[in-house]
Amino acid sequence: AIILAIETSCDETAVAIVNNRQVLSSIVSSQIELHKTYGGVVPELASRQHLEIINPCISQAMEEAGLNWQDIDAIAATCTPGLVGALLVGMAAAKTLAMIYNKPFLGVHHLEGHIYASYLAQPELKPPFLCLLVSGGHTSSIYVKDYGKYELLGSTRDDAAGEAFDKVARLLNLGYPGGPIIDRLAQSGNSKAFPLPEGRISLPDGRGYHPYDFSFSGIKTAVLRLTEKLEAEGEIPVADVAASFQHTVAKVLAKRSVKCALDNGLDTITIGGGVAANSGLRKYLTEAAQKHNLKVYFPPLKFCTDNAAMIACAAAQHFNLGHRSQLDLEVRSRMRIDKVLELYQ
Ligand code: ATP
Ligand code: MG
Ligand code: FE
Repeated sequence: AIILAIETSCDETAVAIVNNRQVLSSIVSSQIELHKTYGGVVPELASRQHLEIINPCISQAMEEAGLNWQDIDAIAATCTPGLVGALLVGMAAAKTLAMIYNKPFLGVHHLEGHIYASYLAQPELKPPFLCLLVSGGHTSSIYVKDYGKYELLGSTRDDAAGEAFDKVARLLNLGYPGGPIIDRLAQSGNSKAFPLPEGRISLPDGRGYHPYDFSFSGIKTAVLRLTEKLEAEGEIPVADVAASFQHTVAKVLAKRSVKCALDNGLDTITIGGGVAANSGLRKYLTEAAQKHNLKVYFPPLKFCTDNAAMIACAAAQHFNLGHRSQLDLEVRSRMRIDKVLELYQ
């Protein structure tokens, strides 16, 4: 099916057209410059910016795909989770297009979109598999049982992985968003320079540690203490700190996902979300998977961070299964991933 999808859940205005797993066009207009000075996303500014450029993005997506409206089978938009004001812009645009052109409409769960980023490059990928979803707001190990059927096996108890990268970058004065900057710096640093805590979650009554859950606030605090100490001693070896931090986070993510896949009898791991672009995570996951005979699939780099192609791909799958959303579907700031089928009738 050919789907036009709109993604405006946070600070990317994105429109894409996808034919099942094949991307026909993908427009992403990032607001990073707009929010940079504040060190994070300002919700009011985000909605206003979405509103200003959503129409040009839609036209450009149609033009680049070289299609007419009669070629489009359905219109989709991210409806949850995200900033409500930002989601509303994309949803209003998608519903309007669906009404005007008389097309079926589908709301899509943003995290299901991140899971589908891997399908875009892998024609043979199919459930069941484990998806490690590591983004700016989430860190979850998701058991993909079937299309639209998910079970959350592990998640972070505090900061998301991407959030940890952003916070560590901020305390090292590296700029925003921190993930790509730390990734680049880490290439020239010594990852063994500074040992950092793995961030484990204790089980009650001294029964050891939670096997799949994550915690990143301890690592972040350890980096803060470390930089304070290094600063007092002289210059901070920024590349070594970045490399040590990335090494610790990437190792933990890879190790616990592999254990999670093995424990649940799964032979395939995929990753999704902005941190899925991280070179350290890709390296450790590839190594760990190889060691245990697991298959591992990565989304193309440009479809790791927010985009509409992944949303369209998820919508195409639902469309093919006969799923449709009502035009009065509302946006929601949050919704559990295992409830996605509630979005369809
Ligand atoms: P969510 O999907 O949870 O709502 P989001 O959409 O804001 O959050 P994404 O766009 O998936 O998040 O990812 C953005 C995050 O990914 C940022 O925290 C950014 O620092 C991080 N990131 C991007 N590239 C890299 C990289 N190469 N290494 C590590 N982190 C990265
Ligand atoms: Mg973003
Ligand atoms: Fe995202």
